[in-house]
Parts: sequence; structure tokens; C-alpha cells
Amino acid sequence: MTRPSHLLDLDLPGLEAYFASLGERPFHARQVMRWVYKRGATGFDAMTDLSAGLRERLAREASLAVPRVAAEHESRDGTRKLLLELGDGKRVETVLIPDAGRITQCVSTQVGCAMGCAFCRTGTQGYERNLTAGEIVGQVVLGQRRAGARITNVVFMGMGEPLHNRDNVVRAVRILGSDHGLNITRRRLTVSTSGLVDEMRRLPADVLPALAVSLNATTDAVRDRLMPVNRRWPIAELLGALKDLPLPPRARYTIEYVLLGGVNDTPDDARRLVRLLSDVRCKVNLIAYNPHPDSPFRAPDPAAVEAFQAHLLAKNFTAILRKSRGEDILAACGQLKADTAN
Ligand code: SF4
Repeated sequence: MTRPSHLLDLDLPGLEAYFASLGERPFHARQVMRWVYKRGATGFDAMTDLSAGLRERLAREASLAVPRVAAEHESRDGTRKLLLELGDGKRVETVLIPDAGRITQCVSTQVGCAMGCAFCRTGTQGYERNLTAGEIVGQVVLGQRRAGARITNVVFMGMGEPLHNRDNVVRAVRILGSDHGLNITRRRLTVSTSGLVDEMRRLPADVLPALAVSLNATTDAVRDRLMPVNRRWPIAELLGALKDLPLPPRARYTIEYVLLGGVNDTPDDARRLVRLLSDVRCKVNLIAYNPHPDSPFRAPDPAAVEAFQAHLLAKNFTAILRKSRGEDILAACGQLKADTAN
């Protein structure tokens, strides 16, 4: 028996082609997307503007499955971490972060991760497989159902290096951002990379404004130690690529910088960061590191964090200190790992 086609995997042109392949009219693609993404339908039965025959056929041959929630943990601050089981039993995590009328969802793009960043809990798990676009979109469809409200922001910063799974991530961004999909404003979709320069160069222009680079160091010696990817693409090459890419006017990249106590949080680092980013169109997100139980690193001193941010602000950078959310359930940055222990 052939596997059912997973319709969350398809953007509008893909879904139109799917209906054409069934010998059906392409406009059914818009109808199905409206039911799934606007009206929250979970099955084909509800789709009353499709003929009974087509609904039955879709029920046999297609799927709208979203990942199954295997466990859920809610933090004191309202952050919810969901452990999800995919169709093949593999597990990933997603995190829902409510904040002042917005809900940000952090999604996973791979089972595990091959990048081996020294500060990251996911990195200790190793790589298993890429998620499909439908599994990524399905996390947000599910997140919206669990939250009972619209997801306003999606960050591709859960398990995995998104650009190792570039094609599926690009398709997921387009489905999430499309009028026919979840219609999430493009500037509220953020795709984070550890710095895979060749994949960055292959990103289509419409996805570039979503790009966030996880920099985390101001010298190659330190970045080599924290992020093995730096040995392949050192800082100058990484930032040089950002400057060369055709970023649309007025758009800015995001630079993520996790402050690790005593490692990359000194006044010299702040000065070097300003020099490195002087001609990169970007805003900077600073994240104070949350140590996890097996981590060799420690949280930065609050005074060091404050001074670091103050230096960037004094040099006219947009530098936002990201509040760490869900620390008590290990849902904060670099803490995701598909287990149920937390
Ligand atoms: S920080 Fe991101 S890229 Fe690095 S190991 Fe963790 S999940 Fe992978």
C-alpha cells in the first residue's frame, strides 16, 4: 500500500499539482488550505464544500496528521514545552512562549543535530534525520490548537540546524507565511543557523529577511571551541557572506549571541562585536546562557550582561536582551533534547 500524501507538506502550487495528479480541479487546493489553516479542520469530513466522493478519496489517500503530543510540561512563567512523537516514533520538542498578547513558537527542524555546539544540549544527541516540511508546519498547526489562539511568531531554533534541512525549511516558511497558509507575517518568522555559509548562499531572496545567525563569539579561537562549524567557515567568511547576500532594502538580519559566563561576555568581546558588525545590517539578540545539568559552562554575571548590552546600545545597535523563558522545564535556548526526564 502506498503511503498517504501528507497535505501539510505542500504549499499552494504543490497542492494544486496534487489535485491535478488526481484528475481533480486545482481550486480544491485553496479550499483544503482554508479548512486546515483558517478553520482548524482536523479531517476531511468537515470540508463540506468538497464533494462526498472527493472527501472519501482524500480520507483514503491523503493525510492531515500533526505530530502526537507524548508529554507536556508547563513552566511557572506560562511557557509550555511539548515532547512530540512523529509518524515513525522519533521524538522532537516544540516550545510555546506566550508574552504580552503574542505567542511565539520555537519549532524543531531535525531529530537531533550534527553540529555539536559545545553549549547545546541537543548537540549531545547526534543527528538522526531531517523533518519534512509537513512535520515542521504540523508543529505550528498543533501549537495553535494547544494554545487555543493564533501563533504570532515562529522561530526555527528548536532541535536541529535548519539550513541542514534547507529545502524543507524554505517550504515550511512559505506555507507558514502564505495568505493561504497560517499567514504569519514574514518578519515574525526567524530561521536560525549556526553559520552554514554555502546553504545561506542558496537561500531564496524571500527567505533572507528571516535569517538569524548564531554568532556567540568574537574571535575564531573561541568560536572554534564553541561551534565546530567555525573551523569550516570562520567569522570573517560568515559575516562576509551576510554582507554579500541580496537582503531586501530595510530588512535586517538577526545576530544571536549567547553570553557564556567568563567565555565571551567581556568588555573586549563587546568592543570586538561592534567592530565585526559595523557594516552588517542587523539587530543583535543577547541571550544569557542557562546552564543545563551536564554543561561545562556557567551563566554570565548580570552586571556583565548589562555592560555588554549597554556598549552595543551606545554604539547605536539595536541590542535586545532576550528574557530566558521556561528555565525550570529546560525549554530555554540550547536546552532542548528529546527526552522525558524534564
Ligand atoms: S545550537 Fe543549534 S546548531 Fe548547535 S548543536 Fe544545538 S541545535 Fe545544533
